[in-house]
Formats: sequence, C-alpha cells, structure tokens
Amino acid sequence: MKVLIPVKRVLDYNVKARVKADQSGVDLANVKMSMNPFDEISVEQAVRLQEAGTATETIVVSIGPAKAQETIRTALAMGMDRGIHVQTDDDLEPLAVAKILKALVESEAIDLVIAGKQAIDGDNGATGSMLAAMLGWPQGTFANSMEFGGDSLTVKREVDGGLQTVKLSLPAVVTTDLRLNEPRYASLPNIMKAKKKPIDAKTPADFGVDTAPRITTVKVTEPEARSAGVKVEDVPALVAALKTEGVI
Ligand code: AMP
Repeated sequence: MKVLIPVKRVLDYNVKARVKADQSGVDLANVKMSMNPFDEISVEQAVRLQEAGTATETIVVSIGPAKAQETIRTALAMGMDRGIHVQTDDDLEPLAVAKILKALVESEAIDLVIAGKQAIDGDNGATGSMLAAMLGWPQGTFANSMEFGGDSLTVKREVDGGLQTVKLSLPAVVTTDLRLNEPRYASLPNIMKAKKKPIDAKTPADFGVDTAPRITTVKVTEPEARSAGVKVEDVPALVAALKTEGVI
C-alpha cells in the first residue's frame, strides 16, 4: 500500500499571530514556522503503518515556498521514505492544493492519503474532503483511530460528544484528529539519514492544474481585547451582576 502524506509549513502553534498593519493577513516575517500539527500526526501514522508492514512506501508532499523543504526533511527524519516539493510562493487555496494532490495520487498510484483535518493557519479544513470528492474515494475525517482489515479500513471519527465508527473501502482519504497518536521526535541519526533521502522538485505548472485564486481575503483582524473582570463579594452579588451585566 502506497501512502501519501501532504504536509503544510505554517506559523508555529506556539507563536502568537500578529496581523499586518494593512489587515491583509498574518505577518510571517521573521517568525518561527513549523509543520502543521495535524500533519505531524499524519506523518507519525504513516511511519507506524510502514513499521507494521501495512505501508510499502510512504511519500511526503509539501506545496509551498523553498523553505517547505525543511518541513519535508522533518517528515523524512521521522521515518518517511521520500519527498516531493511543489514549489510556489503563493498560499494556494484548498481547491488548488487538492487538484495538485489528485494529480500526484494518480501519477504515483497512491492507495491511501492521510491529510490533517485542518491547517492551523487558514483553518479551512477543506483539502482532504475536496481531494476525496475529486477522486471519488471514501473519506474518514477527524480520525481518532485507524484499523486495516483486508481491503478495507475502519476509522473511528471524533464527532461532537463521542466517536463514530465507519468502514471504508480502499483506496481512501483519511484526515487526522489530535488523539490519533503522539508524533515522535526525530533522533539525531535519523535527521542525518534524512539528508540523503530524495526530494523531487516540482511546480504547480507541472501538474497542469488551474491554481488561480477564487477567494479574496477582505480583511484579517485580531480578536477584540477582553474587558477587565470584576470581583464580587458573595453569591447574591454574583447573581445581581449576572442579571445586570449578563456576563461574568
Ligand atoms: P486546510 O484544508 O487548508 O485546512 O488543510 C488541511 C490539510 O490539507 C493539511 O493538514 C495538509 O495535510 C493539507 N494541505 C493543505 N495545504 C497544503 C499545502 N500547501 N501543502 C501540502 N499539504 C497541504
């Protein structure tokens, strides 16, 4: 089974996002960037599938600027076999990303795609489902666990207030949720080994897909500052405050 893992380089989740002065987006100049956390979970899952003998080849792809190669190297250091870098300085919309992934799935004869449930920069949560729809493949979104049996895959999905179990025929698309696994840290020897693993260089034009944007970002704003809280003496004062202020 050939497994494809799409990974996106995003603003590190520990860094506070700062909006650009012209409100056109988040300022990414000189800030720490890392692999999207949900994609780390996908990479871990692919490596585990390989260790279990379920996956025969694990391929990591990132669509992004030159530095996305670092993100690919991280996945290779975690244990994946080889990488594909589709270089672009544009932050492509999910539809364009999904079109490129579809072309790769077809040219690489992929059996399973594990994407993150969302990239924490744009919070679109759309790419995996768009890809499944365009391929006509079943999808198991928000995966909490994955179990293979013959030519099918059972996915436990994280739904509001519980879990839903679904069975998918393969090939399929899965999107990862936080509790699927705990990603490993790459060891130093594996970081060194990863430097020798191949990364194919491509551009969106190589896939002949239309990546023109359909969406214009009108404005990005920071959350409103919270007003200071008040201290109340006792429960009656709290109830009175709730009645008059409506909030604590
Ligand atoms: P999104 O739909 O943008 O929230 O992204 C969901 C998932 O799609 C991510 O977790 C990645 O697995 C994949 N993805 C999105 N954008 C890219 C990209 N530029 N390169 C590689 N994978 C991506």
